[in-house]
Amino acid sequence: MTLQLFNTLDRELQTFKPISPEEVGLYTCGPTVYNYAHIGNLRTYVFEDILRRALEYAGYRVVHVMNVTDVGHLTDDADEGEDKMEKSAREQGRSVWEIAEFYTEAFFSDIERLNIEMPTVVCRATDHIQDMIALIRRIESKGYTYIAGGNVYFDVSKFDGYGKLALLERQQLQHGARIEVDPNKRNPQDFVLWFTEGKFKNQTMVWDSPWGRGYPGWHIECSAMSMKYLGERFDIHTGGVDHIPVHHTNEIAQSEAATGAKWVNYWIHGEFLVMSGDKMSKSTGGFVTLSSLEAEGYHALDYRYACLGGHYRSQLQFGPEIIASARSARRRLSDAVQALRAEVGDADERLAQPTVVDRLNGAAAEWRDAFRAHLAADLGLPQCLAVLRQVVKDDRLSAEERLALVFDMDRVLGLRLGERLERALSAETVAQIEALIAERAEARKARDFARADRIRDELAERGIILEDRPDGTRWKPA
Ligand code: AMP
Ligand code: ZN
Repeated sequence: MTLQLFNTLDRELQTFKPISPEEVGLYTCGPTVYNYAHIGNLRTYVFEDILRRALEYAGYRVVHVMNVTDVGHLTDDADEGEDKMEKSAREQGRSVWEIAEFYTEAFFSDIERLNIEMPTVVCRATDHIQDMIALIRRIESKGYTYIAGGNVYFDVSKFDGYGKLALLERQQLQHGARIEVDPNKRNPQDFVLWFTEGKFKNQTMVWDSPWGRGYPGWHIECSAMSMKYLGERFDIHTGGVDHIPVHHTNEIAQSEAATGAKWVNYWIHGEFLVMSGDKMSKSTGGFVTLSSLEAEGYHALDYRYACLGGHYRSQLQFGPEIIASARSARRRLSDAVQALRAEVGDADERLAQPTVVDRLNGAAAEWRDAFRAHLAADLGLPQCLAVLRQVVKDDRLSAEERLALVFDMDRVLGLRLGERLERALSAETVAQIEALIAERAEARKARDFARADRIRDELAERGIILEDRPDGTRWKPA
């Protein structure tokens, strides 16, 4: 299977050809662990997971590297403001290390619940400071840097083709418009490779360096870690579209300045999830998390299903009706798959073997090929899902054929369709449910049946089913 992917670098669909025939190097910018991921961030990670699974489905071995940013990402991407980690630590009265550990764990729990495959390598910025220093020295030795006000800057005027990824002329690059430009910068687009204490006196995470005690800029982290694990030239780099004009533009400039050669072959970007016409942002607050969806009675995979319903290069409008209809569609699909499993009995394990679908004929083979064609055409997941929905109800196919196709397609979709899923509930949600059940028992004791019924309805709306027994009320997620 040959994949066509949209390369932001050339703004066109291209046939994907990896550097080595069997293995693909994939780098995805990971989270800055100063807060929970919001569902917008998670949309990008779901898209990247689908990309990885599609590559694996196409037969490649994928080395997937994801960083965890735990230092150096300022509240403004263009070097202004303060370190997001330090700010969060101050606001929550915890140490930066505690903040990093807490939100890193929360992030990996989110991606596990979304059935996102664990990256081959997860690397923390704070474990790679020496790699970053070595890379900055290399860039410095080639004459691309200057020091001003205690910081090491990258001089974009020395790098031919700066901003090519963003297709922007120098003067159009968005810095300066929104923020005050650092007076130490020779050009507004110059960016910091290394900060010293001179600039941010209260920074607690600092390291010795040839330029003084300080800490790295955010962009250098991704260049240093990707090159360490994937080599100086690799296949694919991804992220959300917001990273095109600054973060990825700067990553390219500094990496290619260091090596003197092309760095990444394919840049693939995911569009934003938007809420009520606005983009979601961690920094402006009021954001929706996976746990908050679960607390409303949704399964994490309902959200994954909602993500698959939009193409990765289109904005996804998110609202209550989107997640509710994703839930019904996923449940219908899952019930249909359970019925098929019951019909085929013990045969289902054999049907889950990847080679089974290669031997299909007739209508079943046509569905298999249609699915593959949609997937190969720049990851047409909405069409792939439509194929799957038709397969489960196509009675020209035997139950075995249908199930074999479902298992095959789910290798990419990752909806865990073969399993009967229990909804995961957080301890907080369980406590809320139990408090409501106790309140209902009180209401019934006081013969206030209207109130007791209201509580039952409220729980039903949250997907909780009650069963009254002589020894008390039992409950379970629907
Ligand atoms: P951050 O933790 O802020 O570095 O963001 C993590 C990832 O989420 C990056 O790849 C961003 O491009 C992406 N991202 C941020 N906001 C959104 C959004 N509203 N929709 C989709 N992706 C987003
Ligand atoms: Zn990055």
